[in-house]
Amino acid sequence: AAQPAFVGETKHFQDALLYAKRLPAKLFIDGKWQDAVSGRTIAVVDPRTEETVIEVAEGDAADVDKAVKAARKAFDFGPWPRMTAKERGRLLYKLADAMEAAAEELAVLETLDNGKPISYSRAADVPLSIDHFRYYAGWADKIHGKTIPVDGPYLAYTLHEPIGVVGQIIPWNFPLLMAAWKLGPALAAGNTVVLKPAEQTPMTALRLAQLAQEVGIPDGVINIITGLGPTAGAAVATHKGIDKTAFTGSTEVGRIVARAAAEQLKPCTLELGGKSPIIVCPDVDVDKAVADAHMALFFNHGQCCAAGSRVFVHEAVYDAFVAKSTEAAANRKVGDPFSHVDQGPQVDNEQFAKVMSYIDSGKRDGARLMVGGKRAGSRGYYIEPTVFADVHDHMKIAREEIFGPVQSIMKWKTLDEVIARANNTNYGLAAGVFSNNINTVNTLTRALRSGTVWVNCYNLYDGAVPFGGYKESGIGREKGEYALSNYTQVKAVYVPLESPAWR
Ligand code: NAD
Repeated sequence: AAQPAFVGETKHFQDALLYAKRLPAKLFIDGKWQDAVSGRTIAVVDPRTEETVIEVAEGDAADVDKAVKAARKAFDFGPWPRMTAKERGRLLYKLADAMEAAAEELAVLETLDNGKPISYSRAADVPLSIDHFRYYAGWADKIHGKTIPVDGPYLAYTLHEPIGVVGQIIPWNFPLLMAAWKLGPALAAGNTVVLKPAEQTPMTALRLAQLAQEVGIPDGVINIITGLGPTAGAAVATHKGIDKTAFTGSTEVGRIVARAAAEQLKPCTLELGGKSPIIVCPDVDVDKAVADAHMALFFNHGQCCAAGSRVFVHEAVYDAFVAKSTEAAANRKVGDPFSHVDQGPQVDNEQFAKVMSYIDSGKRDGARLMVGGKRAGSRGYYIEPTVFADVHDHMKIAREEIFGPVQSIMKWKTLDEVIARANNTNYGLAAGVFSNNINTVNTLTRALRSGTVWVNCYNLYDGAVPFGGYKESGIGREKGEYALSNYTQVKAVYVPLESPAWR
């Protein structure tokens, strides 16, 4: 198929550039925009052109230290944990409203920064982020403990209190949404935060900080430190003034963050990688299963922790499934994310090179390349939608997280066999089950060792439903009521009951 122009000078791109250039190349600490102590900046690269768009401040340990002190002061003496829970909720609703008013700006910034199609930013990233803040705004005045009947003349009850200063480190695949997943429950519970966005995609977090200030979230409650992983990220992970850390990203860095938390015996939640299986049973509507499995992998260019990257297809429908999946990938429109496309560039050169090396390894290992497999265009980090069939479990592309537009399809015969194969991974983030047989569905939903199972659907992320990993895919759950327990601690209180009549 003829490819569209890979880079266009669309109006939306011009808008994005304008908004990007307005962003402060500074850190947001204690409600003030401040230069990095080192004075250094990092280039933010347009993944469509490989050219620098703006520079942002390169924060490091010295800046993280300032931010932690500001967050500490805001927690220990500021109004945030002391205002009524309703008032905190009202401010979070106001933040969501301000984001809604700035929705188009946030969407074009996200596309410029990350390379995802503008239609995705508009329909998914931005509205889901707004919804997330609203969801947790509603929780702010519903976080409470219990009274507990005890032996003896005492009133015993629990308080669910904020933990304190929270350090949060987020990735580049859904920059605004990951900020919302992290900030929403932390703020609703009354914590103060030091957040480090990914160095590839700092733009929407900076804009979010401006909006938070405009709606009146007090100084020091949200601090944003743009910077690199091994310096700024590591400082967030290891700072003794931080009471709890939360991380989303690679399993490798997750281990580093968890080790630092263990050293200081502080709580740490992790949302890490995956190698999520999709099991397609013989009784399905093949066209629907193909379409859902296609989106399960290719959505966001394969840059999803929950990407359905191992597609196990029953032998009875295997050939048809492979042929139709190949056609779906071949029809996927790749090009400038500011135009009408399904897929833009990968986020940066490192990810581009990593994905290309996995494609090479698939070829070398003898998987059957059905479509794609090459760079698309000559500039920007574009990769052709790629499908491998006849993938075997031992191959690297079946074992490791690719995080790119590369679908791996394998064949199965019996249910017991496919359950064992699907679970034969260190990961356990998500899984997809495609069957119309209730008994098969019930068996698979229980047997699969993963934090989410989507049945005859994929990639649903309602703010109210928990998300997180079994095994090496993480610790703890984000979203929903469950995430509140990451950001609260329980205090037990005993009070003597003096009146003999009321014990
Ligand atoms: P990463 O784990 O290196 O980066 C995620 C975040 O951690 C970024 O903010 C980064 O600056 C920070 N970081 C990096 N090194 C750090 C350190 N030593 N201490 C503290 N923080 C640090 O991920 P990446 O390099 O951007 O991507 C690598 C792979 O991670 C991807 O190919 C993919 O497999 C996986 N990934 C997973 C997710 C997810 O949602 N689970 C998101 C992005 C990437």
